[in-house]
This record gives sequence, C-alpha cells and structure tokens, in this order.
Amino acid sequence: MEKKWYERDDENRIPDKVQSENMVEGQWIKCPDCEKITYIEELEKNLYICPKCSYHLNIDARKRIGFLLDENSFEEIDQDITASDPLQFLDTDGSYKDRIGKYMRKTGLNEAIVTGKGKLDKKDVCIGVLDFNFSGGSMGSVVGEKVTRMVERAVNERMPVIIVSSSGGARMQEGIFSLMQMAKTSAALGLLSKNKLSFISVLTHPTTGGVTASFAMLGDVIIAEPNALIGFAGPRVIEQTIKQKLPRGFQRSEFQLEHGLIDMVVNRKDLKKTLSSLLGYLS
Ligand SMILES: [Zn+2]
Repeated sequence: MEKKWYERDDENRIPDKVQSENMVEGQWIKCPDCEKITYIEELEKNLYICPKCSYHLNIDARKRIGFLLDENSFEEIDQDITASDPLQFLDTDGSYKDRIGKYMRKTGLNEAIVTGKGKLDKKDVCIGVLDFNFSGGSMGSVVGEKVTRMVERAVNERMPVIIVSSSGGARMQEGIFSLMQMAKTSAALGLLSKNKLSFISVLTHPTTGGVTASFAMLGDVIIAEPNALIGFAGPRVIEQTIKQKLPRGFQRSEFQLEHGLIDMVVNRKDLKKTLSSLLGYLS
C-alpha cells in the first residue's frame, strides 16, 4: 500500500505537496514534523513556525512578502505574464495548459513567482518570492522572465535584490525552454554584480534542482531557514543512484552550513531583522 504523508519512514523525505492542501483541517493545521495540531490563528501569529517543535511550515508568496516588507510598501510588477505551452505538453495527468489553469485557481497567482519592489525596514529592495503551491515553485519561462526583468529593474533603479526560493527545480513540461532560464537568470545577476548591487538569496524548504543550480546559489549572502532541504538532486534520487542510505540531516540547512554551501541559518522570526542588517552592510 502507498505510504501516506504522515507515515514517516524516511528522515530525508520532502513533505508531500507541502502543507496548504494536505494539512488544513478546518481551523487547525497539523505540523508535518511533530504531527501536533495548532490553531491557524496562533500559527499565523507565530509566522507559521510550529510552536511545539519550531518546524518552519511552508508559506505562500504573498504571506512571505507580508512578513518581510513594510506595510503597504509592496508594488507588484509583471503580474500578468502567463505561461505558454511551447511543446503542447501532454502526459497521463492531462495537458500542461489544464494544469496551469488548476494552479492558477488554487493559488490565485498567474505563475510560481511574485516579483516587485518595496521597502524592508525603510530600505528600497526588489524582491521575488517563489510559491511552492504553484507547480512546486518550478521555474519555467515565466519564472525565468520575471526574475530577469526584476533584476534588470534593480540595475536600472540601483536597488538590491532579495529572492526567497522554494522550488522543485526547472519545469519539465517546458523542456529546454525551462532549462534556458537557468542561464538567463544567472546572466542577469551577473549584470547586477557588475553594477556593484547586492543580491541576498533566501532558501526555504525545499530548494532543489534547476533553481539551486542557478540563481538561488548566486547570492552575495545565502541564508537558509532551519531544516530546509537544499540540494540539486533530492536525497531519494541520490539514494537510488548510489544505492546507499544517506546520513540523517543530509542536505538540510545545518548540514549545508557546516559544509560551506550557505552562509547563515536564520529562524523566520529573525529573518527581516537579519535582511535589514545585511542590506545596511552591503549598501
Ligand atoms: Zn511541529
């Protein structure tokens, strides 16, 4: 029988589809880690950190922006760009087009990233936040284009960039068009760097695949939330390839900090304060 999300048998497993559709039961949310339930309002006040075990639950892009930016300072850009279907992709789950429609209805977003500009502790920033609930935060042509446009805007208006990632990687239904976005976004960030403007990358659970292999790892400072899975291939793929059991905590933030892949692990409650200090040092 297929395992359910609450039947833990693998330390390194990515909680399936994250919390928003699986864990909500009325006004209560079940923590995917300790499995204790918390009243939604209490969780909201706690920035969606489980009060029992400190697990950082997935939050959507708009909530994240609300937690990070000064009230009413966010101006969204490029919100109307939507995916085309260059390969007319079809698989056993149906057409790519239908799936995009489903994600739009589910999230109220047009794509897997929200970009714009605003103020963080009164400091101007361009910010992009990936939303895992939209196709696993995958990067297709639209995500790549929106990141690139935002970074180019930051260059023109001389502003620093923050990107908060949570992604399964490149969007396979767009084939090579999605892989091209890795080079495109990296080139845009190269331009930012040439213009001596800073980029802070914030990694949240999970950040994997083509997003890790491109813009997410190009931060002047790379911050991760606690216990986030960060890697290129996920642990299950690695285990199947090398036919060995991986150590506990493999590819989690703390492991990646110890091995020099990232610069800091920061609790969500301290994230805004930390970003504000960094923006101060880097400007
Ligand atoms: Zn918990």
